[in-house]
Amino acid sequence: MISRVKSEQLFAEALQLMPGGVNSPVRAFRAVGGQPFFVQKAKGAHIWDVDGNEYVDYVCTWGPAILGHAPPPIIEAVQRAAQAGTSFGIPNPLEVSLARKIRAAVPSVQKVRMCNSGTEATMSAIRLARGYTRRDKIIKFEGCYHGHVDSLLVKAGSGALTFGYPDSAGVPASFTQHTIVLPFNNAESVKVAFEANPGQIAGIILEPVPGNSGVYLPHLGYLEFLREITAATGALLIFDEVMTGFRLALGGAQQRFGIRPDLSCFGKIIGGGLPVGAFGGRAEIMDLLAPLGPVYQAGTLSGNPLAMAAGIAALDQLVDTDAYVVLEKLGAQLETGLRDAARAARVPIQLNRIGSMFCTYFTDQPVHDLQGAMRSDRQRFARFFHGMLEEGIYLAPSQFEAGFISVAHSEADLGKTVEAAAKVLKTL
Ligand SMILES: *Cc1c(COP(=O)(O)O)cnc(C)c1O
Repeated sequence: MISRVKSEQLFAEALQLMPGGVNSPVRAFRAVGGQPFFVQKAKGAHIWDVDGNEYVDYVCTWGPAILGHAPPPIIEAVQRAAQAGTSFGIPNPLEVSLARKIRAAVPSVQKVRMCNSGTEATMSAIRLARGYTRRDKIIKFEGCYHGHVDSLLVKAGSGALTFGYPDSAGVPASFTQHTIVLPFNNAESVKVAFEANPGQIAGIILEPVPGNSGVYLPHLGYLEFLREITAATGALLIFDEVMTGFRLALGGAQQRFGIRPDLSCFGKIIGGGLPVGAFGGRAEIMDLLAPLGPVYQAGTLSGNPLAMAAGIAALDQLVDTDAYVVLEKLGAQLETGLRDAARAARVPIQLNRIGSMFCTYFTDQPVHDLQGAMRSDRQRFARFFHGMLEEGIYLAPSQFEAGFISVAHSEADLGKTVEAAAKVLKTL
């Protein structure tokens, strides 16, 4: 066992100071048992804990670190921005620059509003969809996570699912009475919901590629179907691309699948590792936001110059390099390696991957919805997680999270990972 004495000391103190010792639940390792390590520093695809242990990191701060940790262009941009002041609360040129870059990359976005987290983005997009359509009901899908928005914490994924309460306490039933929850990849249930609620559904919100209950892909034609039924009924199609935006392609999942949603939510990558969120879409809808329109939305730190500078630097790197080609190649290499290792160890797995997002489920059945994800042997996953951690490979500490590859992952990192997996899988 590698030593984590300093992490243990810090966690003991953290438990006295913060609920569960953490500021976001999945970090507490509860789903896999044991205790989290504390990070001293991170660079490229590697992180070091306070005890000096080094790990190859596939969490990538839950997605933002697509260029790896602490890439020089982002660090320099943040330093430069900080010299000029950390917050103004009045327009700054960096906001215009990031908005321009988002619009250039994502054609469905004509106008965009910055906020401070993915949660704010989805919360505001839903308010806007309701304001625009003058309807109340929203369709969401089982296992999709849209941040900790009250009305969306119904059958949610990520930490909510990890801890077995996808429906949070503290959310009045009256707050979620307008939320219709349906299984993902099931067109019939969506048709039925529209028939049962004529003229009442403001929109459908979804992760076009769900990445918060592991990773599974939309069936062929499913996203097209959602586009058609929303257009035909006057409801809005809202893509939550907080994870997939600038991850699956510069233009996100919507580019990859050729769908034009009415509204899109962003976060993670567009902040370059700083707290950020954004939502955008057709100008005609976006112009209903205050100060132009009656849908209120605001933020003291929204458009923060450090976050804008980091996001601009991140997007510039993604535009100027062959990042997505590299990520696809690395993703394919990791997929093949892990599949081969599992086959050799005779452990049935489903390795779901798209580009640089992946998930290993421990089941012999294909996974394309929450029900399928729930069939994974989570005890086996927990043993796999800890085995890999001992080998210096840090995977997300929950079955219901995506793994992420960055452009900083080297072939040697992937080789080491596959070698570790071959060893660990044999012990499961
Ligand atoms: C991470 C995530 C969110 C929430 O973003 P926060 O910045 O954590 O509030 C929302 N939707 C999706 C799809 C996410 O992956």
